[in-house]
Amino acid sequence: MPPPVELRGRPAAPGVASGALYRLQEAQVQQAHSGDAASEVDDLLTAVQSAADDLTRMAQGLDQDGADIIEFQIAMLEDDVLRAPALAAIQVGQTATEAWRVALAEQIAEYEASSEDYFRARVADLIDLRDRVVRHLSGTVTEPLPAGAVVVADDLTPSRFLEADWTAGGGLALAAGSASSHVAILARARGVPMVVGLGDLDLNGHQQAIVDGDQGRLVLSPDTEVQAYYRRAGADAAQRHARESRFLHQPGRSRDGESVQIQLNIMHPSELDGLEPDTCDGIGLMRSEFLFRDGAALPDEETQYLAYRRLLDWAGDKPVTVRTLDAGGDKPIAGLTPEREANSFLGLRGVRLSLARPEVFKVQLRALARAATAGNLKVMLPMVTVPQELGRVREMFQSVCAELKGEGMDAALPPLGIMVEVPAVAAAPDLFAEAAFFSIGSNDLTQYVTASARDNPAVDALCDPAHPAVLKLMGEVIDFGRYSGLEVSLCGDMAAEPQFVPLLLGLGLRRFSVAPTALARIKATIAETEVADCSPSDGQASRCHA
Ligand code: PEP
Ligand code: MG
Repeated sequence: MPPPVELRGRPAAPGVASGALYRLQEAQVQQAHSGDAASEVDDLLTAVQSAADDLTRMAQGLDQDGADIIEFQIAMLEDDVLRAPALAAIQVGQTATEAWRVALAEQIAEYEASSEDYFRARVADLIDLRDRVVRHLSGTVTEPLPAGAVVVADDLTPSRFLEADWTAGGGLALAAGSASSHVAILARARGVPMVVGLGDLDLNGHQQAIVDGDQGRLVLSPDTEVQAYYRRAGADAAQRHARESRFLHQPGRSRDGESVQIQLNIMHPSELDGLEPDTCDGIGLMRSEFLFRDGAALPDEETQYLAYRRLLDWAGDKPVTVRTLDAGGDKPIAGLTPEREANSFLGLRGVRLSLARPEVFKVQLRALARAATAGNLKVMLPMVTVPQELGRVREMFQSVCAELKGEGMDAALPPLGIMVEVPAVAAAPDLFAEAAFFSIGSNDLTQYVTASARDNPAVDALCDPAHPAVLKLMGEVIDFGRYSGLEVSLCGDMAAEPQFVPLLLGLGLRRFSVAPTALARIKATIAETEVADCSPSDGQASRCHA
């Protein structure tokens, strides 16, 4: 075994994981045009067959509804209505990829123009089919990550992270990446230790590794001394965890008795398994885009309704805040978000995308309106920039409710709130007083105020939520909530960082929303903090001069 090597990066998700080293090398090979129609035909037919094989594998173990969707897609792949025009286009000089795209575009346009709901609802399946075959043509189809391994990669997308089974342990070490990216948020929520910003990595000869997500280290080929050190650190962490867990079932309260609401951020209903509702004040953010899995069929109304019902049934009469689809930026969804969008964080993301794709958005609104009759549901819109967006969504929601009632179904219009994550909203919160509530998204607010992309390690230090300009805006939003009576919470990752607790309490924040893995730690930190000692100006001044 080679001698141990210690590499330094930045902590992105706490905890320590040890295991076999797995280097993820994703060759994104774009196939060149062969110039030969026969081999393009061959490539297309092979890609179509591989896509059909994927779908057959996916259909196993699905319920009837899921299996029906997959069967439709397999039938389309086998149908000459798609293949014949694509094969003909190859004969007149198009590449397999171009020919397939054009054939699908024609079919999609026909389905979109159909007067029947059934066909319009199948548009998303066709988009999914188009992209699945294109991925096979371009060689970007991927193998699952091995369970329990220390995965080393240059960077990773959220959907790639979600494909892996992390229940057997394992950790993540990225050469690039950033602690504010969505994959880091996922890793924290799933308790997967993660380190980012390790730079160029030479893994030659190393087989085993330890990822230290607390100190931002990757140790290759750890010897017995290093292993003993991490066993002791693990015992200390378990002790700290046990101390914090004592606060789990207590209401959020500061040392001097100020009541603080603590809600949960989740991405999927399964995160609530094993968690008792009395540990929190409800769900402050459900990131519904994680129901929309890259490469899979878009979830239909029933699938979404059942997911939202599961949250409401769990929460009883406590509020459940579902955020509508926030795809885009570093959460692309194949077939839904624009391809090759320049500046995607400033593009068609969040509510902008939902309004641009009403056929997809309407399915979500119908599921939400049905779920709203079964509990204390609140709906939150991401990336709102102008009040008209809120107005347009409210109108769509109202018409969806009327439509459902016309079909004999129960439906209700839930309170409609907004994320405050675009500086234009934070700077003029009074324009959005029609919203039922605000939730500050410090992750995006910080990247937009500091002009530092949340997923770019080169500007990580600038993307600081405690920058005085970010704090000033957040403080003004919290003040606006206090004098207007509008509820303001904070669901960005800043709320889950113990070092920011005094600062946020000092700004007047009394509603935090954090990942389940941070719940006990934040409650413990609040319980140890005197609100009377938290002055916002002290907090800002100390950051200014840091
Ligand atoms: C945020 O921007 O702070 C937020 C909570 O939303 P997301 O991290 O999902 O973009
Ligand atoms: Mg956001």
